[in-house]
Formats: sequence, structure tokens, C-alpha cells
Amino acid sequence: MSGRRIAVLGGGVGGLVAAGALARDGNRVTLFEGSQVLGGKARALVANGHTLDVGPTVLTMPQVVRDTFAALEATDLLPELLPVPLQCHYQWPTGKTLDLHQDLERTVAQADAFGPGEGERLRRLYADAAGIYQALGRPYLESPYDGPLKLLQRAWRVPGVARLAGSTLQTLDGFARARLTSPELVQLIGRFATYVGASPFEASATFAMIAHLERAEGVFHPRGGLAGLAGALATAARRLGVTVHLGTRGTVERRGSELLAGPAGGQEVFDAVVVNGDPLAHQGRTGGTLSLSGYVLLLEADRRLDLPHHSILFSRDSRAEFDALFSGEQPEGSTLCICHPAATDASMSPPGKSGLFLMFNAPALREGDEARWPERAAALRTEALERLRAAFPSVRDARLSVLGERTPLDLLALGAPRGSIYGFVPHGRLGPFQRPPMRSRTRGVVFAGGGTHPGGGVPLVMLSGRFAAQELARA
Ligand SMILES: Cc1cc2nc3c(=O)[nH]c(=O)nc-3n(C[C@H](O)[C@H](O)[C@H](O)COP(=O)(O)OP(=O)(O)OC[C@H]3O[C@@H](n4cnc5c(N)ncnc54)[C@H](O)[C@@H]3O)c2cc1C
Repeated sequence: MSGRRIAVLGGGVGGLVAAGALARDGNRVTLFEGSQVLGGKARALVANGHTLDVGPTVLTMPQVVRDTFAALEATDLLPELLPVPLQCHYQWPTGKTLDLHQDLERTVAQADAFGPGEGERLRRLYADAAGIYQALGRPYLESPYDGPLKLLQRAWRVPGVARLAGSTLQTLDGFARARLTSPELVQLIGRFATYVGASPFEASATFAMIAHLERAEGVFHPRGGLAGLAGALATAARRLGVTVHLGTRGTVERRGSELLAGPAGGQEVFDAVVVNGDPLAHQGRTGGTLSLSGYVLLLEADRRLDLPHHSILFSRDSRAEFDALFSGEQPEGSTLCICHPAATDASMSPPGKSGLFLMFNAPALREGDEARWPERAAALRTEALERLRAAFPSVRDARLSVLGERTPLDLLALGAPRGSIYGFVPHGRLGPFQRPPMRSRTRGVVFAGGGTHPGGGVPLVMLSGRFAAQELARA
């Protein structure tokens, strides 16, 4: 159906894709964005000649990204997707290191240093992760989620699904432990749970498919960064005729047969509404366990550093780390993620300098946390700088200055429920299938974004925007 008046509340990646797709189909689309910039969490700090993403830094599933730009008739706007073949450099407090390459053989060759035969076991784990993706991931991602029965009907046709269905009843940590012997590599596989803001001790082994997807489809850096990719989506949406109102928080309500949306006091009648805010926040259901939040530190180094694009410095005790995070505490010595975009894209920093993004996972906010964050941030800043210097010889002599930082309070200001990045946390065996549905209980309203199907992460959020437009086309 086309020619309708549609409001989109929120200009994050999901809102922009939904708005663009609906405008392309001939609808009159008005997008209300509460903040002064489009892109939502995919935004950057531009300072001293550096462009530093403050949100997402890892991009995978490049075909989804290309298909999304094609669907928005914006292939010309898509920034070049630069491959990051050394996907991540890992370090453990034990002093061990591993470079995860897209080329599995190069990773497997290093794994035997973690225990005899561990390389072969890692290879088999990746094969099982690929099977999980084929059996469950692909049917889950290929269309708007239509319930567990329809999903199982589609999944059942995939060979080997019965054997793999059993493994997905494990946790991700259990899945890794059943296949590997070294605690370090178990911790590495468990890390993929944090891609959906979850704990490896609570999230289903289904998320092993993220490890497979990264390896099989690659990790990419869009030239100019992830915020630039979101900016290109905004240009595409505007070019398709979407009207954008910045600095305008919108609400939606149904009054009888009329659907009203827009800023308080200035609502207008629309035929349908896409809510790009978090569904749990929208429904006031933010009291339970939510996904992880994050603390981000942005640095300038006075020289071009010899650092990979992505590095992870692991915690000493993964179980204690996640127990603390999900009881609302900020653990000491927790896993530190480091992104050095100039390693792939020299244009991200001025010549002879490096910009760095450092991130600790953080718990979703609890009562009283707002007052605690200034002190907490100061402690995390000191810890991050110390651990960065200790881990990399090329950083030791560099002068580092702080360009900025972001705490869960900044995410809260963007409407993230209690500052949690993904809102809903898919804990439990059936967690992946219990996400808030795309259709709201209010007729004519659908959700798009990381809090609904198919989940968080930029490519999935792009899918969600396209699914939201499809849902409204069917209505
Ligand atoms: C620190 C960090 C690191 C991350 N790392 C990665 C990564 O490496 N790879 C990856 O793929 N993903 C990553 N993510 C997740 C990714 O950024 C998000 O999943 C994705 O950008 C969310 O898009 P969204 O469409 O849900 O919208 P959001 O980004 O949540 O934006 C929603 C927008 O809607 C606006 N809004 C909300 N309610 C209203 C309203 N009522 N009226 C008007 N406007 C409203 C908000 O102001 C906001 O601009 C990361 C996120 C963070 C914060």
C-alpha cells in the first residue's frame, strides 16, 4: 500500500532505513528525531582532526548493508567497505595472545599454543557454529519473525538441524566448554554474547552463529566510520523525500479511529507510525534485567601507533565479571575493547597521530547510579589508560590525551532504557525468540531498531527497518 502519511519516531539506523523504504514505496514520511543529529547510537566525536565513532565500530554482514543501500536506491551513497582481515587481537592476563583472522587456518594454527589439539577443536566449533547459523540463524533473519512454530517449520528442512537443535539448548559458555579445553578460548567464544549485550553464562549457544558470521562474511570498516554510514542513510532517506524534524521528541497514541503522532502539543493524524525508540521503554517495561551498557573513552596519541584495528584485553575471571555486571556493579579489571580505526582508514586521524576508542562493558543503570557515574568514570579512565600502556609497547612512550568520554547516562539521554545498549537481553534457552515483537499492541504502530526483531547490531537493525516497512506494506 502506498500514498499513506507515516510518522517515524527516531532517526537511528532502524528509523532511517524504515523511513527511506516507506518513502521509496510512495508514502509521505515525516521523521521526528529527539536529538540534534541523525544516526542514534551510530555517531562520532570529531575533534583535533580525528573522527572517532562513539557507538558501533565493528561492521559485519556486508551483503545486508549493500542490499539495504540498494533497497533505498542509494548504492552511490554507500561508503567503501574496507575489510579488516585481522579481525581482532586478543590478550589475556596470563600473557597469552591470539590474533583472530578471517582466514580460519591462521587462527587454528595459533590455537594449539592453548593446549594440544585445541586448533582442531576450534575448527570443529566453528563448523558447528556455521551449522547453527544455517539451521536457525538464516531462517530467523530472512523475514519478519512470525513465531516459533513457523520458524521451526522453515528450520526443519535444514540437514542436521536435530543434532544442532540440542546444542542450542546449552548456554554459549556451555557450548564452548563442551568443545574446547582452554579457558582462554572458551572466554573468547563467550565474548560473542556481548554483541547482543548478554552474558555467555545466560545466553543461548545460538549466538555462536555470530562467531561464524564474522569469520565467514568478514569484519569491515566503512570508509569514514560507522557514523558516516548512518549519515549516508540519512542522506538517502532525505533524497527519497522523507521530511526530517530534528530536536523533536514524538509520541504516539490512538484516539478512536485516529492515530496521532508528533511532538506533545503538535500531534497530527497519521495512517501508520514506526517507533524507532526501544519497545520496552515505549511500553514502560524497563524494570527487569536489561542488556549491558558501556563506558567509552576517546583518546588521541601524539604518534601513529602500531596497533591492530580491534583488540580485546580480557578479564582474569569471566564468570565474576558477568556476575558483577548483571548485579548492577562495575567490575574491576574487566574486559577492555580497543578500536584503532586509523589502522585501516588513515583518514580517521591526522597524519602522524592516532585516535583510539576504548570501551568497558557497564551494567544498565540502577537507582542512584546517576550520582555514582562521575567517580566511576574517573576510575575507569585511569584503569583504561594503565592497561592500554601495559598491553602495547608502541603506546608506552606515546603522549595520550583524552578527547572525550561517554557513559550510560549519554545512552539514557538517547532513550536507551536505563542506558542499556540493546534493551531486551536474550537470556535463557529461548531468549533469542522472546524479543519484543515488531507489531505494537496499538494498531498501525510497528517497532524498528535494536530492541526488536531481529536484534541489535547495525546490519540486523537495517533488516529491522526493512521488515518494519514490509509489515506496514502488508497492513
Ligand atoms: C558503545 C556502543 C558500541 C556498539 N558497538 C557496536 C558494534 O561494534 N557493532 C554493531 O553492529 N553495533 C554496535 N552497537 C549497537 C548499535 O549501535 C545499535 O544496535 C544501533 O545503532 C541501534 O540502532 P536503532 O535503530 O535501534 O536506533 P538507536 O541508535 O537506538 O537510535 C534511536 C534514535 O531514536 C531517537 N528517539 C527515541 N525515541 C524517540 C522519540 N520518541 N521521538 C523522537 N526521537 C526518538 C533517539 O534520539 C535516537 O536518535 C554499539 C552501540 C553502542 C552504544
